[in-house]
Amino acid sequence: MKKFNVKDKVMARWPGSSLWFEGTIVDLNDIEYQVRFTDEGKSEFVVKHRDVKLRTDFHARKRSKSRGRSRSRGRTGRSPGRPSKYYKEPEIVKEEVIQTPTKQLTKQLDSEPLILNTITQTPDVAPRSRVISTDHMTPRTSTPMRQSPRLSTSKDKNDIDGQVNNVKPVTETVVAAPSLGSRMCGLTCRVGSGIKAIIHAFVPAWATIKTVPLIIGMMIMPIILNESCTRKKCTVMEFPSIPRTLQYYYDPLAMGIVGAFLAVQIILYFIPLGRVVKPPNGATARCNGWIAVVLSLASLPLLMYMDYSVLVVYSKYRQLLATSLALMVLTTLVGYIRGAYIPNDAKNPTGNSGLFLPDLFSGREMAPAIKRLDVKFFSFRVTCIAWIMINVIIAVKDLQANPGQYSPTLLMACLLQIFYAADWVWFEETYFTTYEYTRTGYGLFLTLGHASMIFTLPIFTRLILNHRTELEWYYLSLIAIVNLIGYTITRAANSQKHAFRSNPSAPALAHLESLPTSAGTNLLVSGWWGRMRHPNYTGDMLVIISWALLCGFKYALPWVMVALDMFFLVGRTFEVEAACKRKYGASWESYTTRVRYRLIPRVF
Ligand code: NDP
Repeated sequence: MKKFNVKDKVMARWPGSSLWFEGTIVDLNDIEYQVRFTDEGKSEFVVKHRDVKLRTDFHARKRSKSRGRSRSRGRTGRSPGRPSKYYKEPEIVKEEVIQTPTKQLTKQLDSEPLILNTITQTPDVAPRSRVISTDHMTPRTSTPMRQSPRLSTSKDKNDIDGQVNNVKPVTETVVAAPSLGSRMCGLTCRVGSGIKAIIHAFVPAWATIKTVPLIIGMMIMPIILNESCTRKKCTVMEFPSIPRTLQYYYDPLAMGIVGAFLAVQIILYFIPLGRVVKPPNGATARCNGWIAVVLSLASLPLLMYMDYSVLVVYSKYRQLLATSLALMVLTTLVGYIRGAYIPNDAKNPTGNSGLFLPDLFSGREMAPAIKRLDVKFFSFRVTCIAWIMINVIIAVKDLQANPGQYSPTLLMACLLQIFYAADWVWFEETYFTTYEYTRTGYGLFLTLGHASMIFTLPIFTRLILNHRTELEWYYLSLIAIVNLIGYTITRAANSQKHAFRSNPSAPALAHLESLPTSAGTNLLVSGWWGRMRHPNYTGDMLVIISWALLCGFKYALPWVMVALDMFFLVGRTFEVEAACKRKYGASWESYTTRVRYRLIPRVF
């Protein structure tokens, strides 16, 4: 329950310690407050509600308690030079470079499950600066893990971030004198809180207002893009004629296909083969996606043999898209309702504002699990498999229309997309260390994104199917090189990060340099992540450019899609970096000073 508002002066517990400090609330949600402490560095932490108290209450209560308290309970004895029984000199924390990260994905033998858990062994690390307490790779427990930082009385005030940690620690026996500011706060404060109340009355409305176009955009955009590229024409110069009545979108057969496909994928998810990953949500994820791909693809010739036309997927494209979007809205709504009954540590910190649309969009739950099924992981896998199957069906359609002839350009376009999606399934374990899995809630942003990916990315291949110009072999070879470079970068970067997050001390990674951080996990500063801050996005950009190159320059649509993707990825670099800055604080700044470019060395 929220007791405080933004700008309230409070006492807050320094994460990982039993020390209390003065601070100011700078942000809040249903579970936590973001508190700016009154140290020189103005450190900010995300602190649970229960760890934030009223200053006056705190002082009054703690004063009486502390009287009867034995000295032995204090972490350090009171020095004779201290002026008051109730006042302690700042305990200065001596920090050491963290060699063993607090959180680590414990990798075990191939036959054993990969358990994404938290090592309870506490590193020799002082109170963390700017720690975000909602680390979603941490297993859920109703009691948050308490760090026991080794406190030292050393006068060394440098913390691990190279920041001066000149904080006055308040143990449970401390009484802090009211600040000059609070004594002078009279009329100004009242006017200030009046203005604050007015702003607060409008802020929720604004949050909702700005979410509406995002949701509509995410639902309409894939429909517009698909309708812009039909067999008759493919243009972005005129608005496509989009059917306005529901009958063009609603189709029982399309619903049946989507339902059957999902049912089969759920069954395949539980095939007891493949490496086991145990994410913190209690699910059991088996990395057997490649079996699901093979069996799903094998079903196509079987269906054709049984006289079921798989090309119905192509003819019902619009209805399948509409059904998938509707299904995603439905599942997200279920997730929203479920979000009211989940434990606090399963909640998405940015998806619990109490406002319906913003929370539905961001997702109230971080990574839902239904029994052993990890919903996010499953959704991602199904997206990849559906995308692969659509491309196979596009290639089949071409062969059926032109029997005996095949188009190298179309074949290559389909193969490149199939290869990219299949690669994600093959390396699906790496999904668990992506930003999407660890920090994106199960909301409309994620679910609609998955659904639209399935149907918008094959626009490249559909365009080639319907309006192709055959490209010369040397042009195709050049495109293959661009694709290969992009793929190599993105795969190498993703796998390197995943390997590092899974087992930082693996001998194979010994050549890589990393930066210790106050959050306990290190940041890679060499290898791919030392060249730019988002090497995987750079690789992805090259991959999508190669897909567009196969469409040539006659049509603008593929290039509009490239531009949209780049716009999204550039925006994402800012989003991910803001999250990393909150988590790693000054360490992230050190990282950005050392690795200066986001996507292209010496350019951006
Ligand atoms: P990322 O795989 O880029 O993961 C970002 C996370 O990596 C950070 O939150 C941080 O997490 C960790 N990290 C950042 N820097 C370092 C470092 N130097 N050392 C170690 N860890 C670091 O997440 P995404 O979900 O955005 O992307 C996943 C994949 O999906 C990528 O390949 C991306 O290209 C692709 N993608 C493609 C899109 C498209 O439109 N084409 C859209 C979105 C994603 P922490 O430190 O907390 O572990």
